[in-house]
Amino acid sequence: MKKKEEEILIIGGSMAGLLAGMSLKNRGYEVKIFERSTSSLENRGAGIATHDELYEALEFAGLSSKASMGVVSDERLFFSKNGDVTHRVAMPQTMTSWGLIYRFLKLKLSPGEYYPDHCLNNILYSPDGKIIAKFTNGKTVQGDFLVGADGSLSRVRQILLPHIKPEHSGYIAWRGLVNESDIPSSALHKLANKFSFALTEGGHWLGYLVAGPNDDLAEGKRWYNWVWYQWEDTHSLEKILTDKSGKYYPSGIPPNLITEKSKNYMRKKAAQLPSIIRELVTKTKVPFLQGIQDLCVNRLSFDKVVLIGDAACTARPHVGLGVSKAASDAMTLTKALLSPDREEALERWQQSRLEFAKAVFQWSRDLGSYIGSQKKDKPTGFKADYYDDPNTLIIQNASNQPSHYIKYYLAR
Ligand SMILES: Cc1cc2nc3c(=O)[nH]c(=O)nc-3n(C[C@H](O)[C@H](O)[C@H](O)COP(=O)(O)OP(=O)(O)OC[C@H]3O[C@@H](n4cnc5c(N)ncnc54)[C@H](O)[C@@H]3O)c2cc1C
Repeated sequence: MKKKEEEILIIGGSMAGLLAGMSLKNRGYEVKIFERSTSSLENRGAGIATHDELYEALEFAGLSSKASMGVVSDERLFFSKNGDVTHRVAMPQTMTSWGLIYRFLKLKLSPGEYYPDHCLNNILYSPDGKIIAKFTNGKTVQGDFLVGADGSLSRVRQILLPHIKPEHSGYIAWRGLVNESDIPSSALHKLANKFSFALTEGGHWLGYLVAGPNDDLAEGKRWYNWVWYQWEDTHSLEKILTDKSGKYYPSGIPPNLITEKSKNYMRKKAAQLPSIIRELVTKTKVPFLQGIQDLCVNRLSFDKVVLIGDAACTARPHVGLGVSKAASDAMTLTKALLSPDREEALERWQQSRLEFAKAVFQWSRDLGSYIGSQKKDKPTGFKADYYDDPNTLIIQNASNQPSHYIKYYLAR
């Protein structure tokens, strides 16, 4: 591959940043990825439901081993409160993990391409038209193009579009990983190779098996990944997302800072879950906790600077499309940058990615529309009733065919 003259600076070294980095590097660009965090991010995420759109974009970034990417779930199940399976639908899907994709991409980068402990503070232009990135550690780096892949609280977006801020949904997501070997065999028999769901008062729970530590896919060595979306009143929400010192983390509190009181509160609330699921939740030693927020911008492309991934549009996770959207943003951006008429290509890229992002954003809001107290208002109440239904829940959440639903939103 002939090296290109241009140097591309990427802010954010998580999914969108790594995917953009690999997609561009594989096509001859020099890339430098700057990540605020000092430590590895591999333990940050958990399960990722896959679909064809995700595979296409991952392949473009150089990850093509579909067969070894995860655990196959052949069916979706709905558990009623008393533990009976009342709804089931055949829906084959591979469940991969955030860590597996992250490790693969990270391994392909050399030290001169990935810079931890670099938190972007400002962006400037030099007199000769170069982009200057200034970091809080005092370092300054110059490049030809800058990609803002720094997540839902993006500093790049703050500089370009200061009025856009994430909006809190009013609910949270508890998440956990349980060793497969810790699950009683009678429960595992029902849950293995299934994507399971249950409704709670003001929320829902879902879970499936994923690769275990070191990406192990062997039976008995995997993890069971679960997510529980739950509405809380403002007071409880703030309390749960606040650490011992009183610091409030609206978008997610680091697992080691979640107070014992919050964990016990969650375990107590788990009494409403069917017993097979309750046991998984209460067995989880280190739960993760995130506040569910969303946002969507109206512009992605600025002079030699673009926004991708969650920095551009953070959809609620029910659609299961965050990584896939980040990967497609990276793939299509790379194609636009390679185009002989870059300006026009970037304009077209912006338009089509914004249309897609808005469709995903609206679908994700609809899927979460019943979580919380909105049911009292009409017509929101009618919509909420539709999504608060086991059939809709198990088919539309993290669908294996998202394009089927996105098509409908794009046509509106
Ligand atoms: C509960 C939950 C479940 C989910 N389930 C799924 C799923 O099943 N499937 C799926 O596809 N997606 C899922 N997602 C969404 C997915 O995790 C995100 O969409 C995805 O991680 C977005 O990647 P990103 O790189 O754009 O942003 P992020 O992962 O947020 O990464 C942004 C990076 O930028 C860094 N950064 C921030 N500011 C700066 C700065 N100033 N300078 C330098 N670096 C900076 C951050 O440290 C971070 O590493 C889920 C999300 C949640 C909350």
